Amino acid sequence: ESVVNRIAAGEVIQRPVSAVKELVENSLDADSSSISVVVKDGGLKLIQVSDDGHGIRCEDLPILCERHTTSKLTKYEDLFSLSSMGFRGEALASMTYVAHVTVTTITKGQIHGYRVSYRDGVMEHEPKACAAVKGTQIMVENLFYNMIARRKTLQNSADDYGKIVDLLSRMAIHHNNVSFSCRKHGAVKADVHSVVSSSRLDSIRAVYGVSVAKNLIKVEVSSGDSSSSCTFDMEGFISNSNYVAKKTILVLFINDRLVECSALKRAIEIVYAATLPKASKPFLYMSINLPRDHVDINIHPTKKEVSLLNQEIMIEMIQSEVELKLRSAND
Ligand code: ADP
Ligand code: MG
Repeated sequence: ESVVNRIAAGEVIQRPVSAVKELVENSLDADSSSISVVVKDGGLKLIQVSDDGHGIRCEDLPILCERHTTSKLTKYEDLFSLSSMGFRGEALASMTYVAHVTVTTITKGQIHGYRVSYRDGVMEHEPKACAAVKGTQIMVENLFYNMIARRKTLQNSADDYGKIVDLLSRMAIHHNNVSFSCRKHGAVKADVHSVVSSSRLDSIRAVYGVSVAKNLIKVEVSSGDSSSSCTFDMEGFISNSNYVAKKTILVLFINDRLVECSALKRAIEIVYAATLPKASKPFLYMSINLPRDHVDINIHPTKKEVSLLNQEIMIEMIQSEVELKLRSAND
């Protein structure tokens, strides 16, 4: 049974960056305003996520890492809520089958916190009282210690820390009401460092730098009403003709979840090539909100690629907004 659990867990947590995404999304769900991530050895030795959210009650700790333990079954704002009922409560549990997980947490009004370690879904000992400030800290150590082939593959690829930095940069600009930091273990300097800011442009400047932020144009689309079959809102920023880069960056959030949509990315690249033939590949940040049931429910929640109802029409509307704004910025 433990082999089956481990294989299933390895599907949910495919790389260090998948563990970071799950942990940070949990911190966001816990209403944190500050989230910091420390990574050692590309995440294979250590991933530590600390937040100042509402914490976990001591009585919830014994079952915290059992599969399907979730406090979120009634929260329906999740993009994947329809498809994820079977997936809910799997992330932390999965991590305990492929790593050593230690949770330190304190809830509001308590004088001390609790610390407990997990392995294969169960507590290794009773929660121990400990000092704690506010919120939750989760340490994931020796990821894939029991999956030798996976560990070897990952050890040979140097870019896992880069993937984590990229993920947190993207999350930081969307969640501009939360401060994020990410650093390598032992490093003084953070590689992602955002402070709470009132404007999205400020958070883009803090994370991606002035050279990006000064070359952005605002875009927005608002389509349909609750009775229409193609209802969505999009707002974002796109780079102008002065921006220089070799690769397209599309930071895409749908209903506040970070996703990928290669059809949209390609469609916008086409508009750039046609409208600004001399411009470089674009930087794009887009936040789309749409009715939950318009996201393809067949997509597995651990896969980031989405497909949407009325995707073609949506993409065309976004394309014409991008073209319009690029043309008027260039006049
Ligand atoms: P899910 O997020 O789908 O509920 P997870 O396995 O990711 O499942 O987390 C299980 C549960 O652990 C969550 O429902 C939540 O109650 C609790 N939890 C995990 N991380 C945190 C955190 N940082 N702060 C507060 N509660 C947390
Ligand atoms: Mg979760």
